[in-house]
Amino acid sequence: MVHADLQNKDYVAWRQFLKDSDRWTRDQIADYQLRELKRVTRHAYENTAGYRALYQEAGVHPSDIRSFEDFRRLPYVDKEMIRDRLEEFSAPVEGRTHITTGGSTGIPCGMYRDPQSFAKELASKAHQYARVGWQEGDRQIVFRGLLINAPDRMEFAAKFNELRCSTYDFVPEQMEIYRRRALEYQPEWVRCYPSSGYLFARFLKETGGAFPPLKGILCSSEHLYDFQRDLLREVFKARIFIHYGHYEMAVLAGYCEHEDTYHVLPQYGYAELVNREGQLVSTPGEIGEIIGTSFIMHATPFIRYRTQDLAVFKGWGCAACERPYQIWERIEGRLQELIVTKSGRYLSTSMLNMHDDFYDRIKQFQFLQREPGKIVFKFVPRDTFSEAAQKDMQRRLLERCLNDVDLTLESVREIPLTKRGKHRLLVQELKLKFDNAALQQALQA
Ligand SMILES: [Zn+2]
Repeated sequence: MVHADLQNKDYVAWRQFLKDSDRWTRDQIADYQLRELKRVTRHAYENTAGYRALYQEAGVHPSDIRSFEDFRRLPYVDKEMIRDRLEEFSAPVEGRTHITTGGSTGIPCGMYRDPQSFAKELASKAHQYARVGWQEGDRQIVFRGLLINAPDRMEFAAKFNELRCSTYDFVPEQMEIYRRRALEYQPEWVRCYPSSGYLFARFLKETGGAFPPLKGILCSSEHLYDFQRDLLREVFKARIFIHYGHYEMAVLAGYCEHEDTYHVLPQYGYAELVNREGQLVSTPGEIGEIIGTSFIMHATPFIRYRTQDLAVFKGWGCAACERPYQIWERIEGRLQELIVTKSGRYLSTSMLNMHDDFYDRIKQFQFLQREPGKIVFKFVPRDTFSEAAQKDMQRRLLERCLNDVDLTLESVREIPLTKRGKHRLLVQELKLKFDNAALQQALQA
């Protein structure tokens, strides 16, 4: 059977374009990007009332854009603007459908997407996966928050050669059913949310159950923490690949063949990393907010869009693969993945990485913040859990929080999934803003 995506001509054409342009020089990329920036800005100006009003108010016109510097004079758009005035910021593109993003930022946002954009999105991801040896038609097992009504919670999508496993009710008995099925199916790839992949790896490690050898693990949709990557590597002994992306399709950045750093895909969109003074980040190690401009979203254009996601700049060009792309060291906890301490510091949840023995005593956990300086750590204990273990956990967590939070431990029977079926590590109910002076300093500490 031919992989379904390969029957979509938009997918095939974009995949080919990405292959052909994979070795573009930095000049070729700059030419292409400037042309695309002019094109999408003109499209938004001519076809949406929202962008037109925004640019008129700022006294700029698409025809003024002759350089990247000119482009960077355009005002930003943010999530609240798009959420509150979606119709104004959208264009009447044929075949568009309304989609809603998850609330990882606490700001659920609707938008319009057209089929061609979506095909390019899938092809762009496939292009990046191909760097680590994946190709359409490879056998894959998927652990994502899908609702699957079959008794065994699995479905086989033949047209993608994909065995889909629901991570609702992701309990040991269910994981054992998936493991046995995998032994028959012999997947070459695992595709998962990092949190789901991690839970499954924990299960395999604890039970010692065999699993087929893999070519790799393709993670997406969530931050990948060190403790998750380490365990995935240990259990599956396979290459772990992750990309950064979002529904707005403004920025896509993935690992390459050789390096675990984020290579910003230049054909897909234009990414600016901007520090809190509004300056373009150019120093290795510096953190900035990702500002994205999509080349592929036309129904709801995203131009200089504030993603509220943060990345750490590494430099221009990857020495290992020699692509002259913008490279990010890591995606540093999305804003809504930060914790605010009593003294107003921001802590990245990456700082809450613990050694594995910490997690051995509990089945699952989640941080919850409703007020600054106060953290609730919810956990599902194992049968062997003791009061001494709880005291030790409390002490170690406080240490990681620099003894700068009021910490409450709460033993619970289960931790519900998000609407999209994710096991979320932190539920941050405060509205965090990037413009806080403490942020940059705290994250670099
Ligand atoms: Zn590279």
